[in-house]
Amino acid sequence: MSGYKNTGYEVVIGLEVHVELNTATKIFCNCSTAFGAAPNTHVCPVCTGMPGVLPVMNRMVLEKAVKAGLATNCTITQQCKFDRKNYFYPDLPKAYQTSQLYLPICRNGYVEIDTADGTKQVRIHQIHMEEDAGKLIHGDAATLIDYNRCGVPLLEIVSEPDMCSAEEVLAYLEKLKATMEYLNVSDCKMQEGSMRADVNLSVRRVGDTELGTRTETKNMNSFKAIARAIEYEIFRQIEVLEDGGTIRQETRRWDDNKGVGYAMRSKEDAHDYRYFPEPDLAPINISDETLEAIRGTIPELPDQKRARYVEEYKLSAYDAGQLTRSRHLAEIFEQTVRLCGQPKEAANFLLGDCMRLLNQDGKEPAELRLAPEKLAEIIKLVQAGSINKTTAKAVFEKVYAEDIDPVAYVKENGLEMMSDDGELDQLVADIIAANPKSVADYQSGKKAAIGFLVGQVMKATKGKADAGKVNAKLRELLG
Ligand code: ADP
Ligand code: MG
Ligand code: ZN
Repeated sequence: MSGYKNTGYEVVIGLEVHVELNTATKIFCNCSTAFGAAPNTHVCPVCTGMPGVLPVMNRMVLEKAVKAGLATNCTITQQCKFDRKNYFYPDLPKAYQTSQLYLPICRNGYVEIDTADGTKQVRIHQIHMEEDAGKLIHGDAATLIDYNRCGVPLLEIVSEPDMCSAEEVLAYLEKLKATMEYLNVSDCKMQEGSMRADVNLSVRRVGDTELGTRTETKNMNSFKAIARAIEYEIFRQIEVLEDGGTIRQETRRWDDNKGVGYAMRSKEDAHDYRYFPEPDLAPINISDETLEAIRGTIPELPDQKRARYVEEYKLSAYDAGQLTRSRHLAEIFEQTVRLCGQPKEAANFLLGDCMRLLNQDGKEPAELRLAPEKLAEIIKLVQAGSINKTTAKAVFEKVYAEDIDPVAYVKENGLEMMSDDGELDQLVADIIAANPKSVADYQSGKKAAIGFLVGQVMKATKGKADAGKVNAKLRELLG
């Protein structure tokens, strides 16, 4: 691990990441998991912890957990079971969370991340299945409870303390997010809480072999907030140690508006939860056949796809990495290439204009709505010399915003490039006649003046001329 910005300290970070599974129903009952419904409408006696009810395990949860484990190189625990984690808090009507402590479903995996110093493995200690709790809404006069989220299936992915900077943490989270999306396990939306990360962080003097005392920071709802919280906590800990103090093991909260973290409570230990085996659910036995069948459903994963793009489409590793961050985006890219045979052009549109528009709308690549046929049409129009790149950008924006038909749109709006050389020659001559000063400048050696003349012609044609052709024509006429 490298020293942290010349402070003499290095940083050690391990993450506990919760992802909500995108199953249709909850983990132990048939209630819907849909986000955003009116409070307490997706509830039943099971998920509100009424006396005498019994849970029934949702098979899809097991399947998705196994997929997540296989895709992150874990060993699958074929004989596993649930345990009760007991705590009393109003967001949990049963007063215990059904979780896994002794035999988690996945263990000993890793994912690879890109860092400034090359690729690095972040080891995964374990992944376990559990149920989510309800949501408390604190008002002025009272606290309200919404149990819709209670019983929504979660995976908790626990890493080893293998990361040493905010950049590495973000790379790790991006990799998990992409992997879960590829597997159709979770949509991992931080703003909606379907991906949440608790950051365990300690610092130690460079060269020390023992780990320092860690804190755990919760409550960040964007990648940006996580990065800020990490920077804050690193410097807070270093300052405490430099002042001769000691770090208290505690749970902390991050207030992103104020840009400060603060202590919430001293950290509880596992024994505080009085874990014991869940008596209401039978142990789970995953046969070799089931395991292999699930393995067979794992698609090409982000790292493999990226390597293939570099190899097959000759894209840069960076571009290939950007395109494969989302399976959905990668699929649009591949279909576009299949239709127009132009990987570089397709990548340019998707990573340039398209990303810009998505960012403007505050959307993620996974939410892009774009027909590959239409992007392919635009690229073909450019290749055929029917429209120039400026027009292509404008048409692309129309497709993105209104899903128009590019070919018909170009025709209806007369956006084809001027193909009539006679007409263009006349225009160039007119522009030369109307701009004697620029012509004189150019002819006296100020070669840059031609740019202005080209611009005038383009303006007169509403951008429909071939700028290269105009440039050549001007040079020819001006000598
Ligand atoms: P708990 O169950 O109390 O939350 P764990 O031992 O399961 O604690 O660790 C939780 C997370 O904290 C793991 O991701 C682990 O890698 C990380 N972690 C443990 N010790 C340290 C440390 N000294 N510094 C940074 N991270 C740590
Ligand atoms: Mg923990
Ligand atoms: Zn229910």
